[in-house]
Formats: sequence, C-alpha cells, structure tokens
Amino acid sequence: MRTLIWFRRDLRIKDNPALTEACRRSSDGVIALYLICSKQWKLHGDSPRKIHFWLRGLRELSQSLSEKNIPLLIKNCDSYSDVPSTILKITEKHKVSGVYFNKEYEINEKIRDSKVIQTLTQNQIECQDFTDRVIVEPGKLLTANHSPYSVFTPFKNSWLKTVEASWSPPLKAPRAQSKISLTPDPIPETCSHYQFENVREDLWPAGEEEAQKRLKRFVKNKALRYQSDRDIPSVPGTSLLSPYLAAGFISPRQAVASLLKNEAKIFKERDTGPATWLNEIIWREFYTHVLELVPRVSKNRPFQLKTENLKWSTSIKDLERWQRGKTGYPIVDAAQRQLLQTGWMHNRLRMISAMFLTKHLLIDWREGEKHFMSHLIDGDLAANNGGWQWSASTGTDAAPYFRIFNPSSQSSRFDPQAKFILRFCPELEGLPLKQIHQPELISTAELRKRNYPERIVDHKEARERAIQAFKDLK
Ligand SMILES: Cc1cc2nc3c(=O)[nH]c(=O)nc-3n(C[C@H](O)[C@H](O)[C@H](O)COP(=O)(O)OP(=O)(O)OC[C@H]3O[C@@H](n4cnc5c(N)ncnc54)[C@H](O)[C@@H]3O)c2cc1C
Repeated sequence: MRTLIWFRRDLRIKDNPALTEACRRSSDGVIALYLICSKQWKLHGDSPRKIHFWLRGLRELSQSLSEKNIPLLIKNCDSYSDVPSTILKITEKHKVSGVYFNKEYEINEKIRDSKVIQTLTQNQIECQDFTDRVIVEPGKLLTANHSPYSVFTPFKNSWLKTVEASWSPPLKAPRAQSKISLTPDPIPETCSHYQFENVREDLWPAGEEEAQKRLKRFVKNKALRYQSDRDIPSVPGTSLLSPYLAAGFISPRQAVASLLKNEAKIFKERDTGPATWLNEIIWREFYTHVLELVPRVSKNRPFQLKTENLKWSTSIKDLERWQRGKTGYPIVDAAQRQLLQTGWMHNRLRMISAMFLTKHLLIDWREGEKHFMSHLIDGDLAANNGGWQWSASTGTDAAPYFRIFNPSSQSSRFDPQAKFILRFCPELEGLPLKQIHQPELISTAELRKRNYPERIVDHKEARERAIQAFKDLK
C-alpha cells in the first residue's frame, strides 16, 4: 500500500501522528504533500511574515523527509474548495490508497477536511485524521453538565488530571521508507497574493531544529525564572516559541515532555516557573477547545452574545493611530511598533494594547484581531481570538468590563526603567521616567520638539465612557 501524509500546520517529522501512521501503514512508499492555498490564506488575513516563515520551514522539512525517502510534493491550490479534487488527482496519479493528516479546528479548515474525507472515502481511499495541535482532543473535557468549559481554571484542573493519567511521550521520527522514484518539488520563494518584505529571518529562523533548540534553551536557562520574568517586556524571559507552535515546527507534547524531564511532578506543581509556563500551554489548549466547541468565535462573533449590541466607536483616525503606534501613550506605542517591526508582541503588551483599543478607544475587538493577524508571525485564530475577546470583555473567562488597565500604572509596573519603551520610542530618550509613564505630564512644546503625539484620549474619561457602554448593554 502506498500512503500520503498531507502536511498543514504540523511541519515536523518528530512527534507527528499522521506521518507516523502513514509510515506504519505503507508497504510501497510514502509521499508527502503540502498545498499552497495563498488566496485562502490572504482571505483569512494571515500575515506575510507568517507565510514566509512557513515556506522557510518547508525547506528543512523537505530535506528531513528526503533523508527518510519521502518526497515532498508542493502544489498550488488557491482556495480550500479546490482541495478535495486536487488531493484526489494526486492519489490517482501516484496510486495512493491511504491519506493521513492532523486535525485543524478553524471552521473553514474543518469544512475543507470533511469534504476531503468524503471525496476520498467515496473513491475507496482510506482517510484518517489525528489529534496533534493540542494534547487533549477538543470535546474530551466537558463540565458536569456536558457542556464546554467557559472558565479557564476548572478546564485547567480537568486537563491536568486527564493528561497526568494518560501521558504518553512524544513519537519518534519515522524510519527510512522504501524508495520511490519521485523527485521532491522545489520550495517556492514567492507566493501569489503575498509580498515578502522585512521578514526578519534573523529573529525567526524557521524549522523543527530551531524550535527544538529554543525549547532546550528555555527549559535549561529560563523556565525557573519564568514566573518573575515573563511579564517584563525588556527581558527575554519567555520561550519565544509561539511562531514555532503555531506552524507546528514543534508540538505541545514535546514542550510538556521537555518540562517533565526536569520536573517529574510538573502536573502537581503550583507557583513555580515551569508550572506557570505549563499554565500558558494549557491556555493555548483552552482556546483551541473553545474554537472547536463554540464555532461562532471562528465567524467573527463574540463568545458572550449580549456584547453583540455594544456601541463601538467607528473612528478610523483613532484606529490608524493605534495601528501605527501613535496614541501618545508610550507603552501602547512601543507595543504596536514592536509588532510592526518584528512580527511579534510580548504577551503583557498584547493585553495592554488590546485593552487600550477596545476600552480606551472603544473600537471593536475584531479590528484589533484583524490587525494583529495581519502582522503576527505567530498568528493563531484560537489564541488571537481568545486574547482579544478576553481583553474586550466579550469572551470566555473575560476580564470584567470595569477592570480597565491604566496604561500609566502598567507602564511603571512592567517597564519601570522604560528600557522597552525607549527601544521602540527613541524620540522619548532623556525625558524623566515619570513623564514617560505619565505622558500627560509632558508639555505640548516638548512633545512637538520630539515629534511625539499628544495623548489620543484621557485615561479617566475614556474609562468612564467604556464602562457606560457596557452598562448600556444591560
Ligand atoms: C490580544 C492577544 C492576542 C494574542 N494572539 C496570539 C496569537 O495570535 N498566537 C499565539 O500563539 N498567541 C497569542 N496570544 C497569546 C500570547 O500573547 C502569546 O502566545 C505569547 O506572547 C507568545 O510568546 P512566547 O512564545 O514567548 O510565550 P511563552 O510565555 O513562552 O508561552 C509558551 C506558549 O504558550 C502559549 N501561550 C502563552 N500565552 C498564551 C495565551 N494567553 N493564550 C494562548 N496561548 C498562550 C503560546 O503557544 C506560547 O508560545 C495573544 C494574546 C493576547 C492577549
């Protein structure tokens, strides 16, 4: 039997259940396939940096697969609607009788996959999908009422119990397969619908090997201090693994296994650096479960339906100032500029900036979600949507609407020496720290001299406006 592994956001050979199964079932060679669906990606708002990162990762993947005698075919398939017929043609051409892939949970991907399964099965081709993006399959953890968890802590407790009881180590890379006479396709350098500029390969080398190096470095050097360092944007205290997890250069199981090696009791620990990091991996799982079980969040709708009637501001001018990092609040501007310049933003800043847009500017969270997605190298619908809806108080376990971060106190608490702010807002160099944290203390003349904008809104007034807008919902 000849089999086919269809790679999507699981671009690695180790701990890849679909690849493992394709190799196990094959007696006559394994073929790998990757589909470039750039028109669809563009429609989803995926960023050029992320697409370039994936393409770079494919080079390493193709090389690793070749060493196992598995040729990687790359086909263009603009839209998801063309995927079932494209795969069917490939199976016919290469006499494939089994197709394997790892599950995706976004609504368009789910529709695509069910059509693929239907088409292949109708044509007597075996087709199987696997849980890979998360450790626990969405739907497995439910409340006592058999409904999805909408609060993180009980979800986490249930996740920890389940994973501890059923833990299995990551899968190894497959052995070399029987040779087939098929040459791997070249990896494209360009992609229709996308222009690649300033992709920052220096910051984000792609591939499975780099992901493993980062994980090792994090667990060895940073995990123990994670709890104290993770909220300080000027300190590289987090793993910087999100783009690698989002592309599937590394699996969440590999991340947890690496912690387990050092911390055998990781599932029982509380308040240590590694346990706090594990918590973040569980947040990632939580939002993926929400995406699968509450599909409306995939369709631009809030988790909390009553917030659909919120009267958002439609100020394009305010939105653009926020997008460009010109709000006059240095911590927000530095965050937004980090995103534009590097394709990534520190978690604490994502929360500050998202809350600023949705509460201080009262702009719809969907605008922020879209903007982040179009720039992030780690853009992931579940985590991005979860983070935005948390910040906007429209989501699961969301911040209560009246708890609105004060940008000045966030700034002095998490960037006391303004080291991070000055990296991205160098025009503020030399100002007293108090003024950087409290920009209302900077005179208009000083702002003009430095070409830095006046504050877009006053914190107190903006806070009152946001609270009123939420109260009006009742
Ligand atoms: C408004 C907003 C938007 C976000 N958008 C995304 C996104 O598109 N893609 C994305 O991967 N993360 C997103 N996050 C979550 C988080 O900010 C990033 O995962 C984190 O900053 C990545 O840095 P790291 O890899 O160094 O994380 P670490 O602190 O090292 O955490 C380890 C891993 O856990 C996961 N993780 C950490 N925090 C969260 C979280 N709050 N929710 C879900 N998963 C988490 C990530 O996969 C991360 O790589 C968003 C958060 C907010 C508030």
